[in-house]
Amino acid sequence: MLSTGVDEPVDAPPARSGRPRLVAAVLALAAVVALAQFYGYLRAVVGVAMFVGILVFGSRFIQQLGVAHPQPEISDVSDYGLKYVCTMCGLELKVEKAARDKAPTHCMEPMVLVREDGKPPLRPV
Ligand SMILES: [Zn+2]
Repeated sequence: MLSTGVDEPVDAPPARSGRPRLVAAVLALAAVVALAQFYGYLRAVVGVAMFVGILVFGSRFIQQLGVAHPQPEISDVSDYGLKYVCTMCGLELKVEKAARDKAPTHCMEPMVLVREDGKPPLRPV
């Protein structure tokens, strides 16, 4: 019988134990019991629940701040004669560089992308 020498698949994620949650639940219960002597059980439960909720929300928010947004792919489209036109007041904006994004707004309306002379783009912009 052949043996690979590895008992478990290498790519399998480590099994998560419920130990941190159990410790957190015990700590929360202890905090409720300790605070209940001074403030009563209702206020202690509400206070601990608010603490845990704010802690979880805040830690997730801080984690999201660390995630860098990818740079948009910007290309030079100055030869294509593209411009955005405001249908309300007639303002025209010539497009020199573009990324895949939504159209700018003017007069509270999204501007319309039109092409005037110039060669057409090889791919949709
Ligand atoms: Zn306008």
